[in-house]
Amino acid sequence: MSKDYDVVIAGGGIIGCAIAYYLRKLTDYTVLVIEKGRIGSEASSAAAGMLGAQAELNEAGPLYTMARESRILFPELSRELKEICGIDIEFIDKGLFKTAGDESEVLKLKRLIDFHNNNGQPAHWVAGPELLKMEPRLSDRVAGAMFLPKDGQVNPVQLTRAFAESASRLGAVFLDFTEVAGFDFSQSGIDVQTSAGMYYGEKVVLASGVWTGKLAVQSGLHMPMFPVKGECLSLTFLEPVITSTVIADECYLVPKRGGRLVVGATMETGSYDRKVRAKGVLELLSKASAVLPGILHGEWEKAWTGFRPQTPDGLPYMGKHPCHKDLYIAAGHFRNGILLSPLTGRWMAELLEGKLQEETLREFAPDRFAYEKN
Ligand code: FAD
Repeated sequence: MSKDYDVVIAGGGIIGCAIAYYLRKLTDYTVLVIEKGRIGSEASSAAAGMLGAQAELNEAGPLYTMARESRILFPELSRELKEICGIDIEFIDKGLFKTAGDESEVLKLKRLIDFHNNNGQPAHWVAGPELLKMEPRLSDRVAGAMFLPKDGQVNPVQLTRAFAESASRLGAVFLDFTEVAGFDFSQSGIDVQTSAGMYYGEKVVLASGVWTGKLAVQSGLHMPMFPVKGECLSLTFLEPVITSTVIADECYLVPKRGGRLVVGATMETGSYDRKVRAKGVLELLSKASAVLPGILHGEWEKAWTGFRPQTPDGLPYMGKHPCHKDLYIAAGHFRNGILLSPLTGRWMAELLEGKLQEETLREFAPDRFAYEKN
C-alpha cells in the first residue's frame, strides 16, 4: 500500500465515506480513509435512517436549507450507488407523520405547517379519522398529524457501506482498525501518525465524528464537541404495521424492509456509555406503544447505542482549518448526519478541489468557537 496520498481522511463513518466517494467521483485525487475500528461501526450504524429535513428542523437558517438540498440528492444517489457497487440503500419515499396527542400539540404542528409552507416546503394536516384510514394500526387517541411527504428514509448501514464500497471501486483505499494518533505540519502537506505507521496527505480531512474535537486540539484548534448518546431497538412483524415513518412524543417509529420496525431514540447528553439500559428500552416501548399499541406483539430483534456528534450551536463544522492550509474538517452532524451525508461529501470534495465558493460554508466554519473565552 502506498504511503502517500492526495487526500487522507481520518474517520470511516458515513461522513468520511461520503467525502471519499465524492472525491473519487468528481476528482482525480488519490484518497486514503483511515478508520480506528470497522468502517461505519459508530454513530453511522446506530442511526434510524430518517431523512428528516423538515421533521428535524423547524427554524429557517443554513441547516434548514442544507438539509433540503441534501434530501433532494437521495433518489438519484440511490440509483447511482446501486449501479456502481450493487448495494441497495433501501431508499423509501413514503413521507413522515408527526403526531399530536392533544390540542396544544395540534396548534404547535399547525404553526409548523405554516412555517414549512411559507418556506416553499410541502406539509399538511391530516385529521385523526383520515390518519387512521392511512395508518389503521395507530391509536385512536392520536388527534391528528402533520404529514411531510418529502421526508423519506434509508437504511443507514447500507448507505455507509455503499459510499465506502463505491469509493473503493472508484479507487479509494480504506485502512480499518488503524487509529490516527497525530500530525506533523512542519512541511507542505501533512504527515499523519497512525497505529500502523506514518502516512502522508497533501491534504487531510478530519471526519472522526464526536472524536474530531480531540484530533483538532492537536492542530491547535479549539472545536468543542460532545456526545449525545442514543438508544434504539428493533422489532419484527409478519407484515408491516405502518407504511410511513411516525414521530410521536419523544420517540419515532421507522418501518424497514421485511416487517422490521426501528424504534428510537433516547437522548443522553455527555454520555460515552455504550450499554443499552433497561430504562431506555422501557421508555421507548412505553412511548411507542402509546401511539402504536400493537407494537408490543412484535418479536424482539435487538437494541443498540450510538453517540451523536453534537456542537454547541447545533451546526456541523465544515471547512478549512484557520491556520493549517492543508487541513480540513467535516464533523458534528448531530441527529442528521445520514440526511446531510451526500451534500457534505460533495461540498467537501469541491472545497478540496478549490471549486466551492467558501461563502457556502461560512456559517459552518470550524473556528467559530476557537476564540471564545474559557
Ligand atoms: P461516526 O459514524 O461516529 O464516524 C466517525 C468515525 O471516525 C468512527 O467510525 C470512528 O471510529 C472514527 N474515528 C474516530 N477517531 C478516530 C481516529 N483517531 N482515527 C481513526 N478513526 C477515528 N441521522 C440521520 O440523518 N437520521 C437519523 O434517523 C438518525 N438517527 C440517529 C439515531 C441514533 C441513535 C444516533 C446515535 C444517531 C442518529 N443520526 C441520524 C445521526 C447520525 O448517525 C450521525 O450524525 C452520523 O452518523 C455522523 O457520522 P460521522 O461519520 O460524523 O460519525
